[in-house]
Amino acid sequence: MPIATVNPANGETLKTYEAMGEEEVERRLQLAEATFRTYRTTGFAERARLLNRAADLLEEDERDAGRMLTTEMGKPVKQARAEVLKCAKAMRWYAANAEALLADEEPAETDVKDSGASRVRVRYRPLGPVLAVMPWNFPLWQVIRFAAPALMAGNVGLLKHASNVPQTALYLEDLFHRAGYPEGCFQTLLIGSAQVDDVLRDERVKAATLTGSEPAGRAVASTAGEMIKKTVLELGGSDPYVVMPSADLDRAAEVAVTARVQNNGQSCIAAKRFIVHTDVYDAFAEKFVAGMKALKVGDPMDEETDVGPLASERGRDDLEELVDDAVRSGATALCGGHRLRRPELPGWYFPPTVLSGITREMRIHREEAFGPVATLYRAGDLDEAVLIANDSPFGLSSNVWTRDESEIDRFVRDLEAGSVYVNGMTASHPAFPFGGVKRSGYGRELSGHGIREFCNITTVWHG
Ligand code: NDP
Repeated sequence: MPIATVNPANGETLKTYEAMGEEEVERRLQLAEATFRTYRTTGFAERARLLNRAADLLEEDERDAGRMLTTEMGKPVKQARAEVLKCAKAMRWYAANAEALLADEEPAETDVKDSGASRVRVRYRPLGPVLAVMPWNFPLWQVIRFAAPALMAGNVGLLKHASNVPQTALYLEDLFHRAGYPEGCFQTLLIGSAQVDDVLRDERVKAATLTGSEPAGRAVASTAGEMIKKTVLELGGSDPYVVMPSADLDRAAEVAVTARVQNNGQSCIAAKRFIVHTDVYDAFAEKFVAGMKALKVGDPMDEETDVGPLASERGRDDLEELVDDAVRSGATALCGGHRLRRPELPGWYFPPTVLSGITREMRIHREEAFGPVATLYRAGDLDEAVLIANDSPFGLSSNVWTRDESEIDRFVRDLEAGSVYVNGMTASHPAFPFGGVKRSGYGRELSGHGIREFCNITTVWHG
């Protein structure tokens, strides 16, 4: 894939970039290693000062940065600006909390004595240069949620961003540079995916984090495994959204629309499979479909737009194939179902779509629908709802709507997912762990769990 900015709203190539050659990558790896040697000794106060400064600059850039995201990957510009501000918030959160999250821990007195020690401490030390392989769907947020904790922990970052968001990748390097970070603390490697393996095998790179597809995760994790390097993987999701009879149906249907089409439907934590108790199925379906039909599809630079184009032509074609496969096998499109053919919208648009009559044989039942396409399932009772929800290779997040405490307990006990959102939609927050089980990946981002993933957890024993 060429490294280029191609506007998804009209398919126009705006700027192409040469991939960095071996020499430039080598220069950057050397710099990362050299910078780490000194940056690792800085105190939390200095690291927090730098990160807060970067957050200030990002906030100042809100409008321009938002337009850049929209130009490169097509999300509605209002959502792009919200992404910018969310990043600044997460940076400030880690600046304020990292020291406490990484404070030395003291094991229980009895265990210290039992080991024959006078004192034992557990210290979180940084690992070194960490490679971040990142996707285009939240081009700033995915990077910041890696970079903020990594930099606060004393690590340095090497970013290999998706090939369709090079301007964002370069912007991020410049942002940290302008904030006053020592050169080499955060560098962008403008390289294609075929160049990742060599970087990962390099001794100077200590660990890797990847957000993206299963094949990309598998490739990075296998090389990292061979090299005995720690990885965190955040891969796809096909999150269930379960609606039970006691739910506030109006609210559940309204939130369902946002949960499905946020970011033009291209979010790993978007609700994708809507599993509705038979008693409220028809009522929910009617409200949900009405909500999906009412969305404004259009130019993502327009402030009024709810759903813009998909980020790439291939992404749009893949989504259409998933929908075609389902319809050929007996599913019904209650709205949408075909790519948009409107002369005023020449880009890679796909309308909000709701499919009913889904069976296990359909690809869309097992695969991630990365676009504004929802599948509806009817469940006879709670047990069946849990069975359908767990009948997926993925296990990122989950959403349940019920006012019944015993039902909530059952969902929390039984849903195979990294989080359960009750009467609301999944949204990441800097203070809460984020990540999945099954083929959605492993490890956690954000919160104390996220910052400790790339630390050398060191036992210090005093005789
Ligand atoms: P990819 O997984 O291909 O891209 C994500 C990142 O991984 C990019 O930086 C990409 O680089 C890199 N990459 C791809 N292949 C390799 C490899 N073999 N070794 C190392 N790095 C690699 O995602 P796509 O854009 O192709 O999207 C495909 C599907 O992935 C989507 O439909 C969706 O299901 C899922 N996805 C999930 C995301 C999530 O948030 N969990 C985000 C994006 C996609 P390059 O761009 O240069 O290929």
